[in-house]
Order: sequence, then structure tokens, then C-alpha cells
Amino acid sequence: MRTRGYVAHAAQTELVPYEFDRRDLRPRDVALRILYAGICHSDIHQVREEWGRSLFPMVPGHEIIGEVTEVGADATKFRVGERIGVGVFVDSCRHCERCTRGLEQYCLDGMTPTYNGYERDGATLAFGGYSRDFVVDEDYAVHVAQSLDPAGAAPLLCAGITLYSPLRHWKVGAGSRVAVIGLGGLGHMGVQFSHALGAETTVFSHSPNKADDAVALGADHFVDTSDPTVLRGYRDRFDLVINSTSADIDLNPYVRMLDVDGTLVIVGLSGVPVALQQEHLTSARRSVSGSQIGGVAELQEMMDFCATHDITARVELTDAQGINRAWDRTVASDVKYRFVIDASTF
Ligand code: NAP
Ligand code: ZN
Ligand code: ZN
Repeated sequence: MRTRGYVAHAAQTELVPYEFDRRDLRPRDVALRILYAGICHSDIHQVREEWGRSLFPMVPGHEIIGEVTEVGADATKFRVGERIGVGVFVDSCRHCERCTRGLEQYCLDGMTPTYNGYERDGATLAFGGYSRDFVVDEDYAVHVAQSLDPAGAAPLLCAGITLYSPLRHWKVGAGSRVAVIGLGGLGHMGVQFSHALGAETTVFSHSPNKADDAVALGADHFVDTSDPTVLRGYRDRFDLVINSTSADIDLNPYVRMLDVDGTLVIVGLSGVPVALQQEHLTSARRSVSGSQIGGVAELQEMMDFCATHDITARVELTDAQGINRAWDRTVASDVKYRFVIDASTF
């Protein structure tokens, strides 16, 4: 099927309009008309090659909400007209030990990314959600409740699951003491989830103008880190610290904020190696870990959790023509709190 979107033809270039083809439906595929696509900082990192070499032309976008327009002959999961979501990957090997445990995001054979990668045939470049239409195998899409605002639901597909998964894995609940570093697209979802799970939640942000929003989103405390010396006042007091910043920040003061056996989870990917003082780990049996999005079943669990708790992203809408400007504002931490593209403008 012929469709329209926005593309980067090379690293560092601005995105421009693009016409291209999506594959014809395979028996287990569904086609969707995209309603909204979120702008994730990972889109920017990849077009700007901040993580290494990328594949061009690149149609970014992996926070996709749409309505099903057609179902393949053997597809049974969704009905035409239903609202569905597609996230950061669109396939995986389906039989390795990790895929069978619902950890497709860590597939031993490599998941198929929604863009900037090849489909399972190893030859077809995958194009993402900055576009009007999409085709996906039904096993890699999730149901989205009609009660959720579709624009606010789009960022759940990446920003949401990336914070939900570690909060669940480290068993956050009532009595947990959680810190979230960075109140961006990911961070502002983490605050909402941490609060909904019953944890005492603290935000560390270098943007003092976000303080009121942090509290409105459910934070118990807001710490302005524009003066880094304040960090000394928070040693030994958290069970879980999640770094959701996109920038290369010194994590050592944050490791020291962990209580004994606490864990710092890295989800933000600046692309720059991290240097840690060993004694900050040894002096209280602290851990540093990392986490990447979530599997399909967990993505559905999070979607259902959001419907139950009425959780969505706070979004600023942009039309297709505004994408490049939205990227600049995202890099400047000047978005509250996620840009979402109105896909009808492609
Ligand atoms: P974002 O919306 O741009 O938010 C990043 C936040 O980091 C900003 O809002 C800002 O928060 C903080 N920040 C930015 N520059 C900073 C600086 N110089 N010093 C201190 N703090 C700074 O980005 P995002 O979409 O949430 O993504 C965040 C990171 O996670 C990106 O690196 C992205 O690639 C990565 N990511 C990882 C996964 C995964 O699976 N692990 C999934 C999605 C994204 P304050 O203004 O509050 O300080
Ligand atoms: Zn993302
Ligand atoms: Zn696998």
C-alpha cells in the first residue's frame, strides 16, 4: 500500500515529506491508519547517529496508536475499527528462551526494531510510525482502551513501558522509595506509575520550572539539580533510582543515594560510557542495572494498568510540518512532556 510520512535521508539532516510503500498484508498481519505517533528522544539519537551508524532512509517513530483498517486472512486478535498500539519492535525470533518467556525485547536473535533495522528477511528496511499507515503482525500489537485519550496513549508504547517494566521488575509498591532522574517523556511516565504503585516518589530535575507539574503527576518531592551540590543531601535513602535522562550526567552522586541493596536502573541512553566509583557500590552492596522497554505481554499489562488508573502522557500536539522544530525543543528539554504528531497531517 502507498503511504506518506516523514523521512531523514541521511544523518544530521532535517526530516522531509516522503512517499513509500508498506507491504501487502500477510495472513497474520493487520493494517492500521495511524492516529498519533509520539516523538521519542531515541528517534533523535538514531537519526543523529549518537548511538553509532544508522540505516537511511529512516522513517522514525515507535509510539504508534492507530485504528485497524484491514485484517489478514488468518488474523484473529483485532477487529476492523479497533484502536491498537505498536511500540519499539515489530517481530522477534519467537522461539528462543527469552521470546518464550515474554521477553521479546531481549530476543537472543535480536528483535526487529520498528525502524532503523531490517525485517526478519534481513533485507527489507523497516519504516516507523511518522507516517499515515502501518502494517504489523498481530502478535506484536496491543489493545488500547477506548477510554484512553489516543494522543496521550501513544507515548505509552515506548516511554510508558520503559518505566513500567523496571518498576514492576524491582517490585515497587507501598513503602518503596523511588527516585526518577529527568522529568522528560520517560520520566513523567515513571512518576505516574511509581505513584500509582504506592511508592514515595522523588524527582531530580535540572529544570526548576517543572516542579509544580512533578507534584501534579504524583511526585512527593521535587529536587532542582541545577545546583549539583544539593545531591549530597540525599545519600542512603532510596531503594530504586531510575536514570531517564538523555544526557551524559555524572551518576556517582545518584549511586550514593541508594540505601543498602538498592539499585540504580539506567534507561536513558546518552551513548556515552559511564564511569563509576567502585566504593559507592561496595560500601552498601549497591547495584547498577539497565532495562529496555518491555515484552508484548507486559506492554498489554501496562496498557490495561493505564486504563484502570487513567494514566496517559501529557502531550503537546504537532503537525507533520512541525516535527523538526519539535525535535529541537525536545533536545532543549522544552516539552511538556511529550510531542505527539497528528498523523492526519502527513
Ligand atoms: P526527553 O523527553 O528528551 O527527556 C530527557 C530528560 O533528560 C529531559 O527532559 C531532562 O529532564 C533531562 N536532561 C536532558 N538534558 C539534560 C542535561 N544536560 N542534564 C541533566 N538532565 C538532562 O527524552 P526521553 O524520550 O524521555 O528519553 C530519555 C532517554 O531514554 C533517551 O536517551 C532515550 O534514547 C532513552 N530511551 C531508552 C529506552 C529504553 O528502553 N531503555 C526507551 C526509550 C528511550 P529535566 O528537564 O527534568 O532535567
Ligand atoms: Zn522510544
Ligand atoms: Zn527470540
